[in-house]
Amino acid sequence: MSYGYGQPGQQQQAYQQQQPQRPPAPGVDQNWLWGVFQNVDKDRSGQISAVELTTALSNGTWTPFNPETVRLMIGMFDRDNSGTINFQEFMALWKYVTDWQTTFRGYDRDNSGSIDKNELRTALTSFGYRLSEKFYDILIRKFDRQGRGTVAFDDFVQCAVVLQTLTSSFQAYDTDRDGVIQIAYEQFLTLVFSLRS
Ligand code: CA
Ligand code: CA
Ligand code: CA
Repeated sequence: MSYGYGQPGQQQQAYQQQQPQRPPAPGVDQNWLWGVFQNVDKDRSGQISAVELTTALSNGTWTPFNPETVRLMIGMFDRDNSGTINFQEFMALWKYVTDWQTTFRGYDRDNSGSIDKNELRTALTSFGYRLSEKFYDILIRKFDRQGRGTVAFDDFVQCAVVLQTLTSSFQAYDTDRDGVIQIAYEQFLTLVFSLRS
């Protein structure tokens, strides 16, 4: 069993590969997307707020969309730091969400609408993570907001984004890529304080 990343024989950097963060595909119809934007922008302010985005997104269950995932996504696409999403920003965000939906459906092998531990292992392994069974139990516990032993779409996105953020912070210190870092107290505090998540 191997742990961490960058183990001998493992492909390094592979966890960057499948993170969907690209500009909108040229095929997406802007007029149609403008209609979507206007529907989401309930108060017609020309900007999508966190509340409006939360209302518009579905996690496939009858529960509200994970506010932490919304916060992470707004942080990622709010290029002008207005705290809200304009149409330009929305086009990139839309692509990101639909890419994640495709990814999520691809790994939801039994079409249950949620990701169980086996499906999560398959997904994260294909993203390049090498994690122990014990750690998958921790991940499920942390990101299973509904206590069903599985991870819904919104929680899956949060899990992947947080893992990616933490991994790249770790990597900044792990210069020899052996999966081990030595870190001083204030470096640790600096690392934690500088995290987006
Ligand atoms: Ca608005
Ligand atoms: Ca903005
Ligand atoms: Ca499933």
